[in-house]
Amino acid sequence: NINTKIGPMLFDKDILDQTSIDKTMINEDGTDNKSKLGANAILGVSIACYKAAALSKNKELFEHISIQSKEYTMPIPMMNILNGGSHADNNIDIQEFMVFPTGLKSFTAATQACVEIYHTLKKNLRNKKLSTSVGDEGGFAPNLGSNEEALELIVEAIEDAGYLPGKEISLTLDVAASEFYDSQNKTYRLASDKSELNTRAMIEYYKMIVAKYPIVSIEDGLDESDWIGWTKLNSELGKKIQIVGDDLTVTNPLRLEKAIKMKAINSILIKLNQIGTVSETLDTIKMAHANGITTIISHRSGETEDVTIADLAVGTSAGQIKSGAPCRTDRTAKYNQLLRIEEITKNKNRYYNFNEKK
Ligand code: PGA
Ligand code: ZN
Repeated sequence: NINTKIGPMLFDKDILDQTSIDKTMINEDGTDNKSKLGANAILGVSIACYKAAALSKNKELFEHISIQSKEYTMPIPMMNILNGGSHADNNIDIQEFMVFPTGLKSFTAATQACVEIYHTLKKNLRNKKLSTSVGDEGGFAPNLGSNEEALELIVEAIEDAGYLPGKEISLTLDVAASEFYDSQNKTYRLASDKSELNTRAMIEYYKMIVAKYPIVSIEDGLDESDWIGWTKLNSELGKKIQIVGDDLTVTNPLRLEKAIKMKAINSILIKLNQIGTVSETLDTIKMAHANGITTIISHRSGETEDVTIADLAVGTSAGQIKSGAPCRTDRTAKYNQLLRIEEITKNKNRYYNFNEKK
C-alpha cells in the first residue's frame, strides 16, 4: 500500500504541510479505523514525512515539533518496574507499577535513580526467592500474595536504593481495569486479592492505597465503559492525584472531548498508533493542554526501537513519558534518546515540575 497507493498520492505534497499529508491519507482511506490503507502503513508514512521535514530544515525532530524553542521541558519518566495483568504471566491484576521521579533535578538524575531502584528491586526479589523474569515492558513479574504486596516491594526498593519515597520518587499505576471488568455483573475481579468489587468499592480501594502509599497517578482505574464511575473517581481523587485515561480515551479527540465535558479525567495517555497520524496526535495533545489536562506520551506493550515518542515528549512539552522499565532495548532506546536530548539542550532545558502542574 505504501509503494503503490500512498506514495503516488503524496508525491507532490509540501513536506512541511503535515496536516495536508495526513488528511490526504485519511480521506483516501475513508474508514474510521484506517483499515483500508492500513493503520501501520499510514502511521509509518506520517512519521517518516515528519522526520523528513525536520531533516529538510536541518533540525532535530524535537526542535521541529516544538513551537516555543526557547526552553525545552524534559519529561519525567514513568518506569514500569513491576508488571502484572495481561503483560505478564504472574498472578497480579494491576498491569503496571511504575516509579516516577518527581523530586529530582534532571532527566539524567531521574534515569539514574530508576535504574538503581530497578536493580535493587531485582536483588530484593532474589533474596526473597521470588522470580526475576520480566514481563512485556521489562518490569519484573513475580507471583505475589496481593496487589498491595507489589507496592510494598517497590517502596522498600526505593528506600534500599537510598531515595526518599514520596519526596524524590513517587509511584504511579496503570490498572488497565477493563482487562478484569465483568460487564455482566458490573464488577471488578481482583484475582490476586481474591475480591470482587463494584465501582464504589474500587474507588474506596484507590482512596485507601493513595492514603497508604506515595501514589500520584492512576491510569485506567475503571472500565472504559464506566463513564459515570470515572466522573466520580475524578471528583473524589482528582484534586490529589492524576486520573489518567488510556483505554477510555484512546488518543481520540472526540473521546477526549467527552471526557472533558464529563470531568472524567485530569490527564491523558498519548499513543501515536491509537489515533494513527502525527497531526491527529498533535491535535489531541493541544486540546488536552488547552483544557488543563496533563499529558503522558506512551510506548506500547509491543514496541520497536523507534524513538519518535522521546522527541514528541520534548517537542510538545508533554511533561511525562512512559516507556517501560530500564531493561530491553525497545524500552531503553527512548530513554537513551532523552538523555541525548538533555545533553544537546544543556542550559536550555528544565525538568518538568509535576507538583506545579497538579
Ligand atoms: P498496550 O499497553 O500497549 O498493550 O495498550 C500499554 C498501556 O496500557 O498503557
Ligand atoms: Zn494503559
